[in-house]
Amino acid sequence: MNFENRIEFARQLDKEDPLKKYRDQFYIPILNGKECIYFTGNSLGLQPKSAQDYVLDEMENWANYGVEGHFHGKNPWANFHDVFSKKLQPILGALPEEIVVMNTLTLNLHLLLTTFYRPDKKRFKIICENRAFTSDLYAIDSQLKLHDFSTEDALIEIKPREGEYTLRTEDIVSTIKENAAELALVLLGGINYFTGQLFDMKAITAVAHEAGAKCGFDLAHAVGNVALQLHDWDVDFACWCSYKYLNSGPGAIAGAYIHVRYATDKTLPRLAGWWGSDKHERFQFKDEFNAIPTAEGWQLSNANILSLAAHKAALDIFEEAGFEKIVDKGKKLSAFLIFILNDINNSSSKKVLEILTPQNENEHGCQVSILLPEKGKDFFNSLNKNSVIADWREPNVIRITPVPLYNTFEEVFRFGKIVKEFAE
Ligand SMILES: *Cc1c(COP(=O)(O)O)cnc(C)c1O
Repeated sequence: MNFENRIEFARQLDKEDPLKKYRDQFYIPILNGKECIYFTGNSLGLQPKSAQDYVLDEMENWANYGVEGHFHGKNPWANFHDVFSKKLQPILGALPEEIVVMNTLTLNLHLLLTTFYRPDKKRFKIICENRAFTSDLYAIDSQLKLHDFSTEDALIEIKPREGEYTLRTEDIVSTIKENAAELALVLLGGINYFTGQLFDMKAITAVAHEAGAKCGFDLAHAVGNVALQLHDWDVDFACWCSYKYLNSGPGAIAGAYIHVRYATDKTLPRLAGWWGSDKHERFQFKDEFNAIPTAEGWQLSNANILSLAAHKAALDIFEEAGFEKIVDKGKKLSAFLIFILNDINNSSSKKVLEILTPQNENEHGCQVSILLPEKGKDFFNSLNKNSVIADWREPNVIRITPVPLYNTFEEVFRFGKIVKEFAE
């Protein structure tokens, strides 16, 4: 599509936007007395207005029924989470039995590593990306130590080439091949949180499998953002959080995916809890753990219903809007943003900013990471004065993320205007 850096053009795109009515279904924060331009949906998605009602319903059920709320009310808590696998199916590209909503992201990562990282003296290495999110690094590192391996010997971080910001698929592939004999696991972010780079999960999974290793992804920045086909890509396991692109509230209940060939295997070693044991026998309190033969067999505890209620409110909007349309608009928003940023560079005497995120549409989601060679922090502070909420990552990177359900093309245009005025 041919974009134009003009407000009338941006307004026309908004007018033609099939998802335009959804912005009104979210609370837009006020900054300096006016509605902000919220470009941080990659960090904490905005609140759907419906979420309060969904949560209040469960507070009322609790008030009215006490413990009987497990079996009474509109949505009995005993089965409350049964709907989530279906709702997340189109977002993940997975079978319902491969999906479970539970816990938080880092905890789920540990649960999955416990099952899928089973090293021996010969195969013990883990490959991850350089600049993985700290929590993921700590999780990997502590799992290595639990198995008496040192980070030095067992962790391989793939780095960008000299002078580059992002990873080349060919370098990921060659690192996997070079380490094939000792490789136990490849664990990458679906999208890197810092650069916004979307990895070729299908290709990486295939090469990891050829090398005889397992392959998993942390989808914190990918879920609800880009189209996924976890099952068809043959990904072994994945986990995500729901408070970023999925708009389900701070610290919201998270999720995990386990390929059906493992999810149905009741004998796979895992950390177990009563909620992962056969649902029909839960209240018979049998001594023997009898794993649910789906991803639900990895659950530990009965779920936080208030968090599930907010998650349901958010996912109902995804369902109604249609995930394909959401992905389409997300691509268009980020493409428009990249176009405007390039236009600013091209029309200035010197380069105003650098775009770190790969510009090819198959290599990024909504997030575009930029850095200003000069006065980056001043620029970031000026955003705040202009009622823009974006996000600063040390040492000098600004992450800009327009998202399809509540951001507009006009906001992207106005952001560009602020950058241009700052540069002049
Ligand atoms: C946001 C994020 C986290 C946060 O972990 P929590 O367990 O939800 O606190 C972890 N890893 C990545 C890659 C993230 O983007």
